[in-house]
Amino acid sequence: MASSTDLAVATAEIAACMTECEACPCCGGRDLEAVACRNDLNAIDGVNDGMRDSFYHVCLDCSVIFARRRQSLASVPLFYQWFAHLERRDYAVYPPPQNYIQAKSAGARTLLGYLADRGVLSPGMTIAHVRCDAGSLLMRIREQFPDCTLHGYDYFESNIRYAHDQGLDGVGQLDAAGIKFADGTAYDLIVCNHIFTHSFDPAADLQKLYAALKPGGVLFLYNEVDHLLRFQPKGRFYQWVALNNFHKQLLSPASLEVLLTRGGFSIEDRSHRNFYMQFLARRNVATVDTSYDAAVALAAREAAPVMVRNFQRWATVQDSRFHGLIKITSKLRKALRRES
Ligand SMILES: [Zn+2]
Repeated sequence: MASSTDLAVATAEIAACMTECEACPCCGGRDLEAVACRNDLNAIDGVNDGMRDSFYHVCLDCSVIFARRRQSLASVPLFYQWFAHLERRDYAVYPPPQNYIQAKSAGARTLLGYLADRGVLSPGMTIAHVRCDAGSLLMRIREQFPDCTLHGYDYFESNIRYAHDQGLDGVGQLDAAGIKFADGTAYDLIVCNHIFTHSFDPAADLQKLYAALKPGGVLFLYNEVDHLLRFQPKGRFYQWVALNNFHKQLLSPASLEVLLTRGGFSIEDRSHRNFYMQFLARRNVATVDTSYDAAVALAAREAAPVMVRNFQRWATVQDSRFHGLIKITSKLRKALRRES
């Protein structure tokens, strides 16, 4: 386990070169409004004060709430060395725990079923999985279509090593600073797991995905948190946990739709698994059209005030001195409602 002195030194170095977004990192909008809330690093001893305030803003054009103050790209490798420690990712050890492997394998079965039902998979495809965990989905695809070319990327060395043990030689290191594909491969399908919530430059990452896909190729996003559900007062997915400092975008269906359509994708299917969003989109054949659909833009503008209202109610509770007490009474009330 790393010492708190190491953490203090590392976070001081990262904090010394933070950057500030001038515009919305998703849509480029400049109609921004501050929405105050602390991030989860406030509760961790040894973290430099310069990392504790993300200066959250909402983009009134696309409704995303984002960390306006974020780590510079040069400091991202150091920042992500501390990911497992700061966010308590206990599974980032080799060999990965059995329950982690089993959970990922079960999740992969569901994802494979989803993709198969929509006719996305076929023999001989070239497929990439960005943030592929221990290779669970790639293994399931290989079982059904042994002739597919499979590439994967993940943050954790333990996952990459495990994937190699399973014969998935095409799995390598995910660059947290931005999506990078190893070579000039043209993909039929790219699957992205929870990437745009973490991305330091979502619009640029989407353009890299666009460039790496064949015209008409398919992009499947999953595990992107729907923050409209997360912050919805009295909603069943209301979450008490603090804002993860590695989450740079707090997305909603509307903001993700703007990002995708503006980036040259047509959305073919959208769904939820609990409070996680899934989007199946196809790369347009024509070059990127930045004059994306007016109805999509209008829906996003209309979603922004709701997002802000819910977020601010949530943030007030989160930052309250009585947070612990409010949380317990609220959970108790909910449990009693279920009983009666
Ligand atoms: Zn925006």
